[in-house]
Formats: sequence, structure tokens, C-alpha cells
Amino acid sequence: MVKIRILMLGGTGEARALAEALEGTGRYETLLSLAGRTEKPSDQPVPLRIGGFGGAEGLAAFLRDGGFDLLIDATHPFAARISRSASEAAAATGIPAFALRRPEWMAEPGDRWTPVATIAEAIERLGPSPRRVFLAIGRQEAHRAEAAPQHFYLVRSVDPVEPPLVLPDVQLVLDRGPYCVESEVSLLRTHRIDALVTKNSGGSATYAKIQAARQLGIDVFMVARAPAATMETVATVEAMLAAIDHLFSPAMNRGV
Ligand code: NAP
Repeated sequence: MVKIRILMLGGTGEARALAEALEGTGRYETLLSLAGRTEKPSDQPVPLRIGGFGGAEGLAAFLRDGGFDLLIDATHPFAARISRSASEAAAATGIPAFALRRPEWMAEPGDRWTPVATIAEAIERLGPSPRRVFLAIGRQEAHRAEAAPQHFYLVRSVDPVEPPLVLPDVQLVLDRGPYCVESEVSLLRTHRIDALVTKNSGGSATYAKIQAARQLGIDVFMVARAPAATMETVATVEAMLAAIDHLFSPAMNRGV
């Protein structure tokens, strides 16, 4: 049976779940691409390639040279550059493409959110008086906190922040999630946190910190997403599978 070749841009739990689901159909041959940001990526159900492509042109060449039939952008909603490259490479090659994007979190009664456009703005909006801040944004932009050294920061990331943060009062927690509400409440209480800085990532894996902040009445500085690159988009793994099945009829697996 001829398998349909898929290049999937990943680095998220959804990408992993989608790769597993595609593998389960037996119809698709998926290559999962990771940026190489984490030192030990979690185990994946399909073959991997790791590292950048060299922009949209590099990605377009990779798609053509590899004879791919479909490109899936299942990267994190804050990974804007690779999503732009994916959209441009799909347009340049004419290869069909879909994006998998979890919906944004929406504020609920009891939430105390301050919407901000960037992490730098979130740090500024913490204000001049010292606060106890949980910085739950990963390590890439954690150094933005150095602009407001009067606060205590609890910084959580998968790998250590490099170079180390130059801050007088900071504590690092290395963890990968998913997290549960009870442990998040306990973390916030233990460190007497009064402000949470987070990206509006959406999804369930890291939502517990939002629920915990709601429960404890803690201020949340919610960084908004940048506008998404233009690509046909679905919100769930199930919807993506349906869209792919619709695109490729079983006859294509028989090479008809
Ligand atoms: P980014 O700013 O959009 O991408 C920067 C560059 O890294 C891209 O231009 C590309 O290099 C390379 N790249 C990114 N994702 C790639 C992938 N899946 N496969 C191959 N190359 C990739 O992305 P980022 O914010 O640094 O995120 C990097 C990765 O971490 C993403 O795959 C994302 O899914 C994951 N992640 C990000 C966040 C977040 O908050 N940003 C959170 C969780 C997971 P070239 O231009 O050379 O191709």
C-alpha cells in the first residue's frame, strides 16, 4: 500500500497525539519535526527530525525534496516564526497544509486577568511595588523579568534558563507538565505568589495554573497571541484526522 507522506511541525502534546492517531490508521507515513529546544524531547510515536529548516525557503525545499503530500503545522500557538514559514512554504510549493490550533483560554467569573500584548508589557504592568510572581512562560523570554528586579520570581521551565537570570530573588522549578489544580494551588501557596504571568496558550495541559489562580484570587497577566498565519485551521486532533481523511481518499493509498 502506498502511504501518504506527511511532514508535521510539532513540539506540542497535540502534535504527539496526532502523530499517534495518524500512525494508528496505517495509511500515513509521518515525519515529525522538532526545533530542538528541549534537551530531552519526550518519546514520539513516529520518526523525528530535529532543527530549523532555514526559513520558508528551506522548508519549501525540504517538502519538495522529501516528496511530501501534506504539511501540518501543529506547533505551539506562540511559535509564530515557524508558522509563518509553514504558511509561506505551503503557498510556494502548492502542497496542501493544515494548522492545528487549540482555542484560546477565555476569562471566567472569578478570574482576575490583565490582558497584555507581550511578556515585556506583563513585567512592566506588575508595577513598582515588590510582588511575588510566578513566571510560567517557559525559558525563552524569562530574562524579560530582569527589567523589574524588585519582585520575587518563581520561574518554571522544562530545561534551565540559559544564561542564568540576573535577579536578586529568583527560584527555578524544572518541570514539564501536564499539571493538576491541587499541585498548582500548593505551588502558589508555598511560594506566597500574588501574580501569575502566562501566555494564552490554550489547551488543557497547562490550564491548571489558571484554575489555581482563580481559586486563590491571584492576579493573572495574560499575554495575548499574535495574529495566526493564514492556513486552514482546526482546533482538535479529531477534527484534523477528519480533515486529512477527507483530503486523501483510500484510493490514493492504492496509488490509483
Ligand atoms: P519560533 O520562534 O516560531 O521558531 C523559531 C525558529 O525555530 C523557526 O524559524 C525554525 O527555524 C525553528 N523551528 C521552530 N519550530 C520548529 C519545528 N517544529 N521544526 C523545525 N524547526 C522549527 O518557535 P519557538 O517559539 O522558538 O518554539 C520552538 C518550538 O517549541 C516549536 O516547535 C513549538 O511548537 C515549541 N514550543 C514553543 C512554545 C512557545 O511558547 N513558543 C511552547 C511550547 C512548545 P528555521 O527558520 O531555521 O526553519
